[in-house]
Amino acid sequence: MNPRIGAQEQIKALTARLIGLSKRIHSKPELGFEEEQACQWLSEALADAGFSVERGICDLPTAFAARAGHGPLHVAICAEYDSLPGIGHACGHNIIAASAVGAGIAAARVADDAGLTVSLIGTPAEEVGDSSGKILLLERGAFAAPHIAMMVHPAPWDVVMPKIIAASMFEVEYVGKEAHASAFPELGINAADALTLAQAAIGLLRQHIRPSDRIHGIITHGGEAPNIVPARSRAKYIIRGETVKELEELRPRVHKCFEAGALATGSKLKIIGGSKPYAEMRHDPEIAEIYRRNAEALGRKFRDLGPLLERAAASTDMGNVSLAIPSIHPMIGIDSLPAVNHQPEFTQHCISEAANNALVDGAMAMAMTAIDLAMDATSLQRLTAARA
Ligand SMILES: [Zn+2]
Ligand SMILES: [Zn+2]
Repeated sequence: MNPRIGAQEQIKALTARLIGLSKRIHSKPELGFEEEQACQWLSEALADAGFSVERGICDLPTAFAARAGHGPLHVAICAEYDSLPGIGHACGHNIIAASAVGAGIAAARVADDAGLTVSLIGTPAEEVGDSSGKILLLERGAFAAPHIAMMVHPAPWDVVMPKIIAASMFEVEYVGKEAHASAFPELGINAADALTLAQAAIGLLRQHIRPSDRIHGIITHGGEAPNIVPARSRAKYIIRGETVKELEELRPRVHKCFEAGALATGSKLKIIGGSKPYAEMRHDPEIAEIYRRNAEALGRKFRDLGPLLERAAASTDMGNVSLAIPSIHPMIGIDSLPAVNHQPEFTQHCISEAANNALVDGAMAMAMTAIDLAMDATSLQRLTAARA
């Protein structure tokens, strides 16, 4: 049988089940590294389809790897399934997970005819910003065998090669000393003031950084009571740059702003995390082009977004994967505007009819792309030679 037709029929037969899976994950949002239910549901769906499934790989309890087929081109399809604190699946990782399962099962069904080995890798905790699922999985060898990696991510529009920049999340803690804020303020060391000063310094630093750099954060602890001088303050910050190199040039300058707060108030500063940043994404242009062709054949439109495409840059640990093996991370449109990712309104859009269509189209376009690559001698040669 023609592998493309076989895979298409498989996805058609699976559609109701894929949508059910997406809705189920959406209805029970789990934070990074706590995605027990999602991991179980996805693993079960893949085991039912004949994959050999290993859960808890690389010492990550909510990661998994499922494998099928023995063909010469080994394709990894990444499934994300973590949510965001307070606003659930506002990044639509339920769609990512369901489309990955659809693509994986369809490609596996025709693996022998197409010449594919299919690995579906369950990658937890994409939203954590530091030492995330794919970064740890990469370090621990989960991507050592596949030749290429792919996934689709929901967004307001379809974009074949979205701008994905480097990012690093870290925590900041100041320790000062309590005192009665009115009777004995001279005995206190104000840790909240340290954070205020650091934020003012960062605000001034913004004039002198690259337009592509980003610094943003939240205060997670600012004191206990207004009549106690705050002895402890905490914040979480993310810094971003076009590349890891530019990010690492920005980092010491931001750290100095936090040091300024400590110096001025006499608080002690501790910076926690930030050692395993998200890398910029290097899209493989050939795989991206084949994906585009397959997505367009399904009626997907890739509009020219002009400067918005450059402006709307985000980060993902798929960037780290893309620096190791040829990868794609297209955005798949769910017609959500004016709602955008990380808004509660977007959470609602992630189970809309457009979202369901997107996950089916994403599954189809990924499966077709994997099949096209495996059946094209030149692509197969290029992609397998890189690992040989
Ligand atoms: Zn996301
Ligand atoms: Zn997100």
